[in-house]
Amino acid sequence: MIKNFADLDLDPNLLTAIEEMGFERPTQVQAQAIPQALEGRDILASAPTGTGKTAAFVIPALQYLQDFPRRKPGPARMLILTPTRELAMQIADQARALAKNTKLNIFTITGGVQYQEHADILATTQDIVVATPGRLMEYIKAERFDCRAIEWLILDEADRMLDMGFGPTVDKLATECRWRKQTLLFSATLEGRGVEGFTADLLKNPAEIEADPSRRERKKITQWYHRADSAEHKLALLKKILTEQAERSIVFLKTRERLAELRTELERAQIPCSWIQGEMPQDRRNNAIARFRDGEVNVLLATDVASRGIDLPDVSHVINYDMPRSADVYIHRIGRTARAGKKGNAVSIVEAHDHQMLDRVARYIKEDIKERFVKEMRPTHKKPIFKKKKKEDKKKTAVKAKSKKKTGKKK
Ligand code: ADP
Ligand code: MG
Repeated sequence: MIKNFADLDLDPNLLTAIEEMGFERPTQVQAQAIPQALEGRDILASAPTGTGKTAAFVIPALQYLQDFPRRKPGPARMLILTPTRELAMQIADQARALAKNTKLNIFTITGGVQYQEHADILATTQDIVVATPGRLMEYIKAERFDCRAIEWLILDEADRMLDMGFGPTVDKLATECRWRKQTLLFSATLEGRGVEGFTADLLKNPAEIEADPSRRERKKITQWYHRADSAEHKLALLKKILTEQAERSIVFLKTRERLAELRTELERAQIPCSWIQGEMPQDRRNNAIARFRDGEVNVLLATDVASRGIDLPDVSHVINYDMPRSADVYIHRIGRTARAGKKGNAVSIVEAHDHQMLDRVARYIKEDIKERFVKEMRPTHKKPIFKKKKKEDKKKTAVKAKSKKKTGKKK
C-alpha cells in the first residue's frame, strides 16, 4: 500500500501543489484510486464523507492530462458530474489549486449562473469541466456543449445524484460521452437506492475500492438521542444543547419552512446562527458558511438539499432537529463531525413519530444509539416500542415501499 504522494509517480509540479495544499500523505481512498486510475482502469470507489475523494479523482485526472497533453485548442477532455453547484465550485477550486503549476483550464457549468457567462467560457479551450447534470444537459440540447472529446467521465457523489433524481440524466450524459476511455465513480455509500444497477451500465470491469470501512470512521462519533414530548419541549432541549453543551453545531432540518421557524425562535432566544437552504443565491450561501467557518456564529442551520457534499468546517455537534428521511442521509449528516481524527457528537432530538426512523438508522449502522436525558427536561411520555413489531407487518411495509418506488420511477 502506497504511503506517500511521492510514491505515486506524479509530475513534480503536481507534487509541489499537493504539498502546498498541506496534504502530507494520501488518504486511503487516494492511495488506492490514484494508481488504478492512472493504469487506465475504471473506478468504483466508496469512502465516507471527508476522506478526500475529490483529490482521489482530481490528482489522477491532472496527471493524465499532463501525460497526454493536447495538441491543439479544443473542447473539454474531462467531465466531472456532481449533484450541486456548491460542490461543483468546491471541486473546481480544489482542481485549480492542484493545477496551479500547469496551464490546464478548469470550468464549471451549473445552474444559478447566467447563461451568457458560460457562453463565453465555451468558446475557449477547456480541459476539465465540472458540471451539475441538469444544467449540462440543457447546454448539450442547445448545442452549447459537446461531449465528443471527453476522455474521462467522473461521477462524484453518485449516491446523491441518484437520490436527487439525476439517474436518467446521468445515463444520457454517459451516452453523450460514449467515446470516453475511462469512467470513475465516487460515492459515500454504494448500498441501496440502485447504485449497483446504475454502476453496472456505466463502468467496465472497474477496480472496486472501499476505503476506510465506515464503521471505523463512525467510531469516533458519539451518538445519542433525546426524546421530546412536544415541539416546545424539543425547542427547549435544543436551546439547552446549543448554549450549554455544544461548541459548534450544525442543526439539520427537513424543510426550508422548518428552518425559517427555528431561525426565528433562535433569534428570539438570542442564539446567533447562520443558515443555508436550497434555492439560496450562491453568494448568500457562501457568506453564511463563511460566517460559521470564521467563528462569527457557532450554529449553522441547514437543510439536506443545501448541505449536500459541501465541505463544511469541523463541528463538535451534528444535531438532527428533524430526523433525516433515510438512514443513508443520517450517515451523510453525521459525517460533518469527527473529521480528521477528531471526536464528534451526533444528537437526535426525536418525537414519538421519529422512533421508527431512529430504529432504522440504528439497524443500518449496526450500532446502538443510546438515550440521554437533560436534567429537569425529561420526557413524560413512554418510549414507543417498534422492535417487537411482527415480521408480517414488516413485510407488508416493505412491499408497500417497493411499489411506491416503482410508480415513482415511471414519472
Ligand atoms: P470527500 O469528498 O471524501 O467528502 P473531500 O475531498 O471534500 O472529501 O476532502 C475533505 C477535506 O480533506 C478537504 O478539506 C480536503 O482539502 C482535505 N484533504 C483531502 N485529501 C487530503 C490529504 N491527503 N491530506 C490532508 N487533507 C486532505
Ligand atoms: Mg466529496
